This record gives sequence, C-alpha cells and structure tokens, in this order.
Amino acid sequence: MTVELISVGTEILLGNIVNTNAAYLAERCALLGLSCYHQSVVGDNEERLEEELRRALSRSDIVILSGGLGPTKDDLTKEVTAKVFGRELREDPHTRERIQEYFDRSGRKLTANNWKQALVPEGATVVDNHNGTAPGLILEGDVEEGKGRTAILLPGPPNEIRPMFERDIAPYLNRREPEGIYSHMIKICGMGESQVEDQITDLMEQANPTLAPYAKTGEVHLRITARAAGEEQAEALIRPVEEELYRRFGNRIFTNREEVTLEEDLVKMLEKRHMTLTTAESCTAGLLAGRIMNVPGASGVYREGYITYSNEAKEKLLGVRHETLQAHGAVSPETAREMAEGAAAHAEAQAALSVTGIAGPDGGTPEKPVGLVYIGCCVGGQTRTAMCHFTGNRAKNREYAVVNALTILREELLRQDSK
Ligand code: ATP
Repeated sequence: MTVELISVGTEILLGNIVNTNAAYLAERCALLGLSCYHQSVVGDNEERLEEELRRALSRSDIVILSGGLGPTKDDLTKEVTAKVFGRELREDPHTRERIQEYFDRSGRKLTANNWKQALVPEGATVVDNHNGTAPGLILEGDVEEGKGRTAILLPGPPNEIRPMFERDIAPYLNRREPEGIYSHMIKICGMGESQVEDQITDLMEQANPTLAPYAKTGEVHLRITARAAGEEQAEALIRPVEEELYRRFGNRIFTNREEVTLEEDLVKMLEKRHMTLTTAESCTAGLLAGRIMNVPGASGVYREGYITYSNEAKEKLLGVRHETLQAHGAVSPETAREMAEGAAAHAEAQAALSVTGIAGPDGGTPEKPVGLVYIGCCVGGQTRTAMCHFTGNRAKNREYAVVNALTILREELLRQDSK
C-alpha cells in the first residue's frame, strides 16, 4: 500500500520552520510497512493545494496532509480536501463540545472563528485531538483521480500530530496494512564501518530480513529489518540473523536494543562489578563525564571527576609529575597514564579514564598533530594507554575521544573478566 505526504504551510516553504513532521511521518509510515514514494510541501494557497492533493490521490492509496487545520482564513486543508472528495462541511457536535471544553480548561477566550474547527466533511472519521483544538480527520472514498482513496488530515504542531498519530493513526494504518516492518538494532563499538561491512556482505544480500549498516561516531549500528504480518513471525525471521551477528562480532556488540547507548551499557557493567568510575579530562573537558551523566542513575558508579586543562591543574589535582610533563609533554602516553592513576587514587575509584590530546584547529606540530589523543584506562590498579589519531574538526575529535575512551574501558572490563 502506498502513502504520500503533503505538508501544508507557507512557513515551511519559506524555510522559517524545519519540516520535522514530514521526517517523523515518513519514518513511522515506513515502519508500518507502507511504501512512501512522494512527499511535497505546499503553501497556504487553495489552488496549489488542490492541484497537489489531486496529484497525490492519483498515484497513492493514502495521502497524509499535515498542517492548515487551524481556525484562521489561511487554514485551508479541510476545505480543499472536502472539495476534492465532493463532501459538504457540517458542524460536528462532539468536536464543538470538545473545543468548548478545551477553552474552558485552558482559561483562554474563545473567538467566533474557533468554531470553524468544529466543521468536518460529511462521512469523515473524526480523530480527537487531546493536545489542541483541531481534530484529525480521515476521509475514505472515490475521487475523480481514483477509487478507494484515503486522505488523513492532521494538525501541524508537533506536540499535537505525534500523540495523535501514535494513539489513533498508526493503529488505523496497521489495520489497512497488516504487514508491518519490524526491526532490531545491533550496536557495535571498537570497529570501523568498512571493517564491519566486510564481514557481513553475504548477510546484506538477503531480502527479508534486510541488514543495513549505519556509521555513528565511533560505533557501527546494524539494523535488521523484517517485513511480516506480526511480531512473532518477524522475530522468527530476525533471530537467526541476529545470532549469526553475535557469532561473528562477539562482545564487540554492546547491545541489541535500539534505545541502549554505549554509556548506559558501561554504567551497567560497572554496577554489576560493584566498581566506581572517575574521569580525568584535558581536551574533552567534561564531555566524557557529561556523556556518562546522560545515564539515569549514573551517580551509583560516578562520584567525582577532574577537568585538568592546564599542566598546573594536572599536577595539582591529579598528581601528574612535573618531570613527566617536562619530559614527554601533556599529550603523551606517560601523562595519560599518570592522569588516570592519579584520578583513581584521588577519587578512590576502581576505574579511571583519562583523555589528553590536541582537539584543534590550532596547537598541532609535526610530531604531535591535531587529532592526536592519548587515552588512559586504569582498572583495578592496572593501567593501559592507547594512542588515537582522529581527523575531524575540534568538535568531532572531542566526540571521537569520548567514544574511544568508553570503548577502551569496556574492553578492559571484559578482558579482566576473562582472566
Ligand atoms: P493550528 O491549530 O495551531 O493553527 P494547524 O493544523 O493549522 O494548527 P499550522 O498552522 O500549519 O497547523 O502550523 C502550526 C504550527 O505547527 C506551525 O507554526 C509550526 O510551529 C508547527 N508546524 C506546522 N507544520 C509543521 C511541520 N511540517 N514540521 C514542523 N512543525 C510544523
């Protein structure tokens, strides 16, 4: 079944607002197993909207229009759709009542044009809006352009369209197209995209499920997607591929759940081992600690950390030796080691990560170029250092340093387990 999106609003056309509704709807429709081949944006203009809607209905089974359901004169979506479907607009008592209630509740003053939102095309299914006044509408029927077409009208504000779609529209679309798209996400760290892709070329040739890699900063995500009539059938298709990926990548896979992040996985690993973590950061200056703090409940494993940007701070807060800094410089494996060990000792933590490097754009030398970063990782009194060369801009280099530090700690925890 095909679906097509029309976003209505001059603001979108002029670039005043970003069309996040289209991105959201396209993604959700794809997951519901609908094929979406066209999207368009039309300003608040009756003629052009009618033309666009007719074109969409001539080639797609379902057309989802978003925006232009407001109470003002330039909100035309409902009027134009009613015209194309040859329906009259009638007042819907239920919607009128809900609008009255909405204004009573919010204490806002109702104006005469608000009642425009209570008009609905004859025969349309009204979808209540729990976060605003414009209801959603579903019109099914024959139009000049084709038989058995559907138009779904949704309000523009993202805080209205999204809950309405999740609550009522997705189940409706699911009934229309029972074959859905189900997917699992396998997340890998410590390997580059081409390295991963090289090991899965055979699996990528399959049609159902499909396997697609996505490169993230320092991670590779593999999405296994199956088309099936229900979750159970989808699971049966996905499971063997997932098991094969675990066979190939082992514990480089840190999760098979879309919502789990690397830092979340790491916090869990530390909790399981009853370990606390501290960080000593130079070029990332808090970014690593911030990433760990993204995890709710991270305070169970993280108590204190250090931002030591200057050499003096490295000496004062972490006890890095003056001679080490003099002999090897701040960006060196020796300094990274002493930073991690000093942090572990000062914070009395069982695990410590340190980062010291040249984020750029300035500060590089032929011996120590921009993007050179040393990471120190001290677990249970044993310290390992790693040298990394990143090639991004300042922001990317700092981000890469953080992911690499998290990956190294994860590897170290796993390595110590296997001893
Ligand atoms: P209202 O009842 O608020 O007038 P409406 O259904 O008429 O709603 P619009 O007037 O088209 O919707 O848009 C209202 C607001 O919703 C816009 O100002 C914008 O902030 C947001 N919006 C509209 N369309 C989009 C879109 N495609 N992507 C993101 N935001 C949007």
